[in-house]
Parts: sequence; structure tokens; C-alpha cells
Amino acid sequence: MDMDLNLIKKAGHPALIAGPCAAESREQVIRTAEALLGTPWLTAFRAGLWKPRTRPVDFEGVGEKGLPWLREVKEKTGFKLAVEIAMPAHVEACLKSGVDIVWIGARSVVNPFIVDEIARALSGSDICVMVKNPVNPDLSLWAGGIERLKKQGITNLAAVHRGFDIYHSKPYRNIPLWEIPLELKNYFPDLPVLCDPSHIGGNRKLISSISQKALDLGMDGLMIESHFDPDKALTDVAQQLSPKELKKIIAGLKIRDHQEKKVDAAIEKYRISIDELDEQLLEILSKRMELSELIGKLKKEQNLAPFQPDRWSSVLENCLKKGVSLKLDRDFINQIFNVIHKESLGRQDEIMND
Ligand code: PEP
Ligand code: MN
Repeated sequence: MDMDLNLIKKAGHPALIAGPCAAESREQVIRTAEALLGTPWLTAFRAGLWKPRTRPVDFEGVGEKGLPWLREVKEKTGFKLAVEIAMPAHVEACLKSGVDIVWIGARSVVNPFIVDEIARALSGSDICVMVKNPVNPDLSLWAGGIERLKKQGITNLAAVHRGFDIYHSKPYRNIPLWEIPLELKNYFPDLPVLCDPSHIGGNRKLISSISQKALDLGMDGLMIESHFDPDKALTDVAQQLSPKELKKIIAGLKIRDHQEKKVDAAIEKYRISIDELDEQLLEILSKRMELSELIGKLKKEQNLAPFQPDRWSSVLENCLKKGVSLKLDRDFINQIFNVIHKESLGRQDEIMND
């Protein structure tokens, strides 16, 4: 049996887990939870107690000290509790404290030894366990993490898609690569997959559209960060929503019928990848134009003409060579780079005449 979604899902609705990125103080936890009362679909409250941070100078969470605050949330609001665990000691503390859902974070899933240790610590309990995707876009590693838990007899499982850390991920903090969670569903057809738009977007402006996309792709729920005073949050300031903003976003989401879909599933999957590549192409083009403008300013200072024939010949020659080696048509590459070059020169001309 995979995760009993009824634990966090009211019949007929996607699951919603919401709460602050990190528990910071008793007051912050209680005020946030109370403000979240009445949010559509919400039955589980999240809060990170042990925060895996890139730099040790950053706030690393309050640890076990926050567990009584969460218990108070449960008593006052009736919300189920969801906490990230990253080592066996965290598991023990959560099991003793009535936590209902634990999740293995993106930085822990990359390490099979840690996942095995956590799985052993969880073995024998029937707590819900969610496995986030690893930070790198590796479907097998994600699936492997789930298999490691199943191997220890843990069946109350779900996955959380939180996007992937790659070099060109703009406008996202972590690029969604939607085909990967969809493929995970093929591996484990009954496994609920939730989406974490907060860590995908990294910015509160993107949460609504990412959430809608996740629901349109048939994901089973959402995990969204919310803080009663988001601008003062100690972690992930840009992406946390106030409870009021969260309620508005959830109320605006549409649940569309998946049975009606006529488009072939394979076509749909490729289209998702194409849309993502187009988005990346546009981001790269925009970055390229920004660089051309910076060069344009320097050319102006140094009294150089925008068009530099030797440089352009070598750029085009390199692109043609590389393009042909990638099985792209020579004429096609020639046309594309001439258009790009024309646009760059146009921008530099404007700078010259400024
Ligand atoms: C989190 O959910 O707060 C978190 C740390 O997420 P991730 O593991 O996806 O980075
Ligand atoms: Mn966070």
C-alpha cells in the first residue's frame, strides 16, 4: 500500500501540506498555523526543524526544541504534522513526538547510505514517508530512494517533486523537468506524487502557475511554504507566502478532468520537454543579448565599430562546425546565427547612437 492520501487529503481534493520553511520560534509556528486555518484542502502543517544549509553560517533550524511547538499546533488546529528528517536521530525524535509525516530532503536522497540508515530507523513504524527528488536530475536515484524504503517494509509512501538544480534553471530556482516526475509515476503507478512549487519557483510570484501546472499534469497534491511574516523569514524569504496569499492561490486553482485528455501520452511527454527547452532557449538568448550590450558599451568607450568582420567570421565558423557535429543542418545554423548577430548589432548600434 502506498501513502494513504486520506491522511492528508480531503476526499475529492488534492493534498495540501503548508507551513514555514523552518520553525523559528514558538510564536512564529503558532501564529502561522492559526493563520492557515481555513485554507482550502489543508490538513497537514509542515515545518523544518533540522535545516540542511549550503553555508554553516546560515540558520540551521531549532532542532528538537521545536517539537513541543508542533505538538501545540496539532492540539490547537488538528493539523497533521510534517517534518524533514536527515538522520536516524531525527526519526527517533519525530516518532516519539506524534509527527504524522516525515520527508527525506533533496540533499539526503542523493546519498544511498543515509537513505538506508533512515529506512532502518523508520522500519516497523507506519508513519507516512515522503521522498523528495534528489537535487540532480536523476530519476533512478529518486526511484532507488523509494525502493530502499520499500525494502525495509515501509509502505506508507509518497514522492515530492521539488525541481532540479542545473546551471541554466532560470526563471526557476530549480528547473521542474516535469517529464521526470511523470516517469516516476510509470515506475510506481500507485505512488502519490506531490509537487513542491516553493522550491521549484524560489519566488512567490511563480507559485500559482507552477501549482496549476502540477495539478494539470495529474499530481496528487502540493507542499507550499507559508510564514505569517514572510519578509522576516530566516530561510527562503523570497518564496514563502503569507497565509492570506496562500489561501488566495489555492482558491484560484482549477482542477481539470484528466479522463477527457485526448492527446497521446507519448506526444504529451515530448511536448513538455520541448516547452522546457524553448524556455531555456529564450533565457539563453536573453543572456546573450545582455552580454552583447555590455560589449557594445565597451566598444563605444574604445571607439570600435559594432561590426567586427574577423570576430563574426570566427563565431559563425565555430557555430557551423559545432552545429554540423550535432547533426544540425548547415543552412539552418547559418540562418539562425545571422538573425542573432543582426539583433546583437542592432542593440550595439543603439548604444553607439545614445
Ligand atoms: C524544504 O522543504 O524546506 C527543503 C529543504 O527542501 P529541499 O530538500 O527540496 O531543498
Ligand atoms: Mn525551504
